[in-house]
Amino acid sequence: MADVLIVGAGPVGLTLACELARYGVGVRLIDRAREATQTSKALVVWSRTLELMDRMGCTAAFLAAGLRARGATLRGGGRVLGGPDFSDIASPYAFGLMIPQRDTERLLAEHLREFGAAVEREVELTGFAQTPDGVEARLSHGDGREERVAAPFLVGCDGAHSAVRHGLGLPFRGTAQGDDWLLADIRLDGAGAPPDDEIAVYFHRDGPFVIFPIPGGRARVVATVGRADGRPKPDPTLSEVQALVAARAGPGIRVSDPVWLSRFRIHERKVSEYRRDRVFLAGDAAHIHSPAGGQGMNTGMQDAVNLAWKLALVLRGAAAPGLLDSYSPERNAVGEMVLRNAGRLTVMATLANPLAQAVRNRALHLLLGLHAVRRRMAATMSEIEIAYPASPLSVGPGAGRRWRPEDAAGPPPGAGADPRFVLYAADPERGTALAARFPGLVQPAPRNNPEPGRLHLVRPDGYVGLAAGAADWDAAERYLKECGTV
Ligand SMILES: Cc1cc2nc3c(=O)[nH]c(=O)nc-3n(C[C@H](O)[C@H](O)[C@H](O)COP(=O)(O)OP(=O)(O)OC[C@H]3O[C@@H](n4cnc5c(N)ncnc54)[C@H](O)[C@@H]3O)c2cc1C
Repeated sequence: MADVLIVGAGPVGLTLACELARYGVGVRLIDRAREATQTSKALVVWSRTLELMDRMGCTAAFLAAGLRARGATLRGGGRVLGGPDFSDIASPYAFGLMIPQRDTERLLAEHLREFGAAVEREVELTGFAQTPDGVEARLSHGDGREERVAAPFLVGCDGAHSAVRHGLGLPFRGTAQGDDWLLADIRLDGAGAPPDDEIAVYFHRDGPFVIFPIPGGRARVVATVGRADGRPKPDPTLSEVQALVAARAGPGIRVSDPVWLSRFRIHERKVSEYRRDRVFLAGDAAHIHSPAGGQGMNTGMQDAVNLAWKLALVLRGAAAPGLLDSYSPERNAVGEMVLRNAGRLTVMATLANPLAQAVRNRALHLLLGLHAVRRRMAATMSEIEIAYPASPLSVGPGAGRRWRPEDAAGPPPGAGADPRFVLYAADPERGTALAARFPGLVQPAPRNNPEPGRLHLVRPDGYVGLAAGAADWDAAERYLKECGTV
């Protein structure tokens, strides 16, 4: 019997399966689709996700396959307004890694195979019920076979129309944004084409127009094409895209070789609980929003990383089941912030009133002239500022913040097969003695605390759990007792 049944093998389900398999947890990862997505969908893997991949052990494959975007340039009212420079991001990965979602999924599936696990395709979850010790699920196979399966935990990574969310009866509250959008994956040539390591944003009076570089000399363009009226429309043609490019970005760009032409609408919706007893939601099943800022997939993959080590520790008996209570409040707060930021960016980009557009462009020109503003924008997009200050797992001033990778020295906390807290202290002998009392839960750091006078317990996902004074060993013991079963 699998310990965790994961429904949906998009980037989020795959990330969760990789993490759980790495920790030795038995997983079943099912997907109703015959094959993985062939479209590019989410294009950016941000710095924080790459840092977390360091723990997973698959960053190198992603870096080899992706293209490093060095910044974004915003243009409006016929001039350059400025934009974030990603080299300002305080991370070893100070760029946006442009990589089509189909490649992200392929690389994650390959990584999963290294742990001896694989996606079961053409297997659909059709229903489930919770029992006191787990979940009983009904699965329907592509060959018509019906199966009943029991597992201690079920995680719905089954996307925006999640059957798991419906099964839990959780409302997916929110709204639909008012515009129709066009999307095209094409080739761009000509003197007016932006550099191929830059995200180019044009605030045109008719609506926003964005060009994203894609590896292999291609580009994604996205633009509004009028107010949504609910009527189905045919996919755009290449000549429609060419006309749009000429109108919004200027005449010097030629488009060709389309591989994906589509339309979409933006929905901004979220659940307010990510968990009911033994059933969890992650990724688009829990939150969908505007693609502005490229946060959707990254946020979902980070939901998965947050949940995996907690499930692993509880299933091993090294932590009390109460550890799982922190998942929903932590990721709900992040989801709310991401929805808010992406929504604000979209409202700003889609202003229709010419006066409001002029004010926006002037304000952006002024603000983007300030390095602090540009740096902040880059930090927000990269998700390196995500923190859990209000979490029940964060104790002490400064707890909940990201433990910077350069502070780790050696493998980052959470790397390897054991998801344990890492103790950074000033007294290695006491640290080793404390760790010996909670062997499945904590290990001493390979170096003294880089912050003298402080004691930290860093979680396996690289966030500070406990922040205390260097001599406050009682606080560390209390914290570990609370998390553990001792
Ligand atoms: C055009 C477009 C552009 C985007 N751009 C970006 C971007 O630049 N950056 C970004 O971060 N995000 C972007 N996104 C969003 C991103 O694609 C999603 O956030 C991401 O795919 C979510 O991953 P997921 O694994 O949660 O869900 P999904 O990728 O939707 O995967 C869900 C999986 O569950 C399976 N499934 C569903 N129901 C069942 C069932 N009952 N039983 C079994 N399997 C089931 C499906 O077959 C599917 O494979 C974009 C999305 C679109 C459409």
